[in-house]
Amino acid sequence: MLNFALGPVMSSDLVLKIGSEQTPYFRTPEFSKITLENEKLMKEMLFADEDSKVIFLTGSGTSGMEATVMNVFTENDKVLIVNGGGFGQRFVDLCKLHNIDCDDIKIDFGSCLTSQMLEEYDNKGYTAFMVNICETSSGVHYDIDLISDFCRRNNLFLVVDAVSSFLADYINMSEHGVDVVITGSQKALACPPGIAIITLSGRAVDRVNNNSCKSMYFDLKDMLLNAKRGQTPYTPAITILLQINARLNQIKNDGGVKVEIERTTNLANDFRNKIKEFPFEVRCKCLSNAVTTVHSKEILDVNLVEILKNEYDIWVSTARDDLSKDMIFRVGHMGDLSTEDNDTLIDALRDIQKRGLF
Ligand SMILES: *Cc1c(COP(=O)(O)O)cnc(C)c1O
Repeated sequence: MLNFALGPVMSSDLVLKIGSEQTPYFRTPEFSKITLENEKLMKEMLFADEDSKVIFLTGSGTSGMEATVMNVFTENDKVLIVNGGGFGQRFVDLCKLHNIDCDDIKIDFGSCLTSQMLEEYDNKGYTAFMVNICETSSGVHYDIDLISDFCRRNNLFLVVDAVSSFLADYINMSEHGVDVVITGSQKALACPPGIAIITLSGRAVDRVNNNSCKSMYFDLKDMLLNAKRGQTPYTPAITILLQINARLNQIKNDGGVKVEIERTTNLANDFRNKIKEFPFEVRCKCLSNAVTTVHSKEILDVNLVEILKNEYDIWVSTARDDLSKDMIFRVGHMGDLSTEDNDTLIDALRDIQKRGLF
């Protein structure tokens, strides 16, 4: 199996090996040491300030999105959300569900964010800003510098969902003034699904501690208290935390986060060059390095996602054909993939083309 889907992704042999071992008991100093190291490594890779804190929540990425909405906002907030696809809409739905006042900047599916779009919202009384920095449903990467400037000049609390973007696109919490970064174990961290990672700035930690959260499991105050000694209130996905530890150390030993981002960028560029021989197009000018969204010049009557999976054992992600009929698939560049793997995918597409299917 060769997996170019957008999560879960291919894991390294080291991560796979840890997954095959017995699950250890976790109320031990040895396990606390590992989770404290995970926190330190996450802070390093996100360039977070000294007073920031990291929470490892057992749940998929969406649990991190929901816990954030429930713990950092109150009825006094007015949140502005970038909404250009499925994940932007999820933030809108979460705010509505939890009675947080919000508006969304609606962006056409697959379009980039511009400074003009943001300028309309200057000085409008907002207190916070939420963005899925890579809107995985379209592959669009929103410009973090533009967003960072906008939030600074309007004094907004900035929440970034970097679930698919972490380790693929550069983000620097200190430099960009980001208050919360959410990511998940099954995207570029290349571990199984089950852990959401929420990194909070000092300002965000204060918001959490001064808020009252109407949930026991999602109460981040309780998590912060336990995290001081490297523990969680409830049994976490222990094995995944061990796998995350191995993966983060692997990245660090291979040169750090910038080297990993460069590796992902090269993989994305390699694929985008190779796909040019087909009657396909990569239209978006602001794609994340995590994903390439591929359009067809003509509407195809074959389902390439199904053919690749059933006949070649290659997995790519489906497209939002409810929004864009000529979008054929999304190819991920996250996880344990190489340029040789790109060749395997290209060879399969050549074969399908030779068979006359497109
Ligand atoms: C994958 C993803 C999530 C989390 O989805 P889950 O299925 O809950 O893990 C959140 N935001 C973005 C941008 C994603 O790509």
